[in-house]
Amino acid sequence: MTKPTPSNAIQHVPRSGIRQVFDEAAKYPDCIRLEVGEPSFSTPAHIKEAAVNALAENFTRYTANAGIPELRSAIVDKLRLRNGISVGSNDVVVTSGGVAACFTALAAMVNPGDEVLLADPSWPNYVQMTVLLGVKAVHYRLRLENDLIPTVEDIERCITPKTKVLIMNSPGNPTGAVTPLSRLREILELAHRHNLWVISDEVYDEIWFDTPPHSLQPLDTQERVVSVFSFSKTYAMTGWRVGYLTGASEIVSHVLRAQEPTTSCVNSPAQRGAVAALLGDQQCVTDMRSAYASRARLVTRILDDHGVPYARPTGAFYTMVDISGARMSDRDFVSRMITERRVAVVPGSAFGPESGNVVRVSLASSESDLQNGVTRLASAVSDWSN
Ligand code: PLP
Repeated sequence: MTKPTPSNAIQHVPRSGIRQVFDEAAKYPDCIRLEVGEPSFSTPAHIKEAAVNALAENFTRYTANAGIPELRSAIVDKLRLRNGISVGSNDVVVTSGGVAACFTALAAMVNPGDEVLLADPSWPNYVQMTVLLGVKAVHYRLRLENDLIPTVEDIERCITPKTKVLIMNSPGNPTGAVTPLSRLREILELAHRHNLWVISDEVYDEIWFDTPPHSLQPLDTQERVVSVFSFSKTYAMTGWRVGYLTGASEIVSHVLRAQEPTTSCVNSPAQRGAVAALLGDQQCVTDMRSAYASRARLVTRILDDHGVPYARPTGAFYTMVDISGARMSDRDFVSRMITERRVAVVPGSAFGPESGNVVRVSLASSESDLQNGVTRLASAVSDWSN
């Protein structure tokens, strides 16, 4: 009997390399898990309480597709105060996490056959989105010698007449890098010159170690930037699935049309929790930020002690460690780390084709796991260098 076939696009969506490590590491109960990019903290109590109250009050129905008015209004204030972005409530869409915001923004911008510029290394979900949308992902290099910060030259060399969208991510996953204001200006100028849309993924905007990151949108005078934010990382709310995006009215109205058929609206009690997150005491954000900063110091100290090179993390909760000294592919290195040293990290090539000389360590793991895991990793790099 012949059966209908799944779509070509769906069959070509690559599996996330992070998931593959996750599944492999799960076979070894004593493995130290440094691969997962998820806060080790619980959602703060006042946020959970707001969602519980919403349930008790039967606040369980569909909401407006773009989100409840009190959440959009709290987001408008947050964007103005913390990101320097001035928009009205109608230019904000509450989304099912930052992931849905990135996808619907991209869906609103591209036609099949267009090219989308992504960093190498970058978050693997972007490539998966381009495959689903029938567009071509083209990677621009981030180099260790540039602290994994994009340069205009490296981006410009990838631009063709088909290029439609540039995806930026600062603070970055997996880089842990924050792009400075001067570079953001240059990159926006490049986007203007080549008439590109820009998706600025800023889901790690509240996690930084030196100075707060700058947003791209306040520099944008030509309405080509859509900015993506999330509650997942800032408030340890990964499972709640609440994010948001903003941009110029016209493109935001198109993004909203992409949200209607895919997710409609976000879970209503979760939206109430998000209101409490933004309006409540922000000490929880400061505390978690300090914890990640202290973990970053711990990890870089261990790597320095062992003479293993890395990109110094200045934001988000990752660091990329140079494992080229171990003289093997990143995938072999990761597989041996799991089976022989019982430490799970993600191979750089999971984030882009030219990033096979590094592995990603997540600073979201506990201090004791980082202490033991990174010591074992650094020792392995020198043991295997001979
Ligand atoms: N963007 C980046 C760079 C990420 O690393 C993630 C999650 O890991 C997201 C977006 C999406 O996060 P969420 O959908 O939980 O908001």
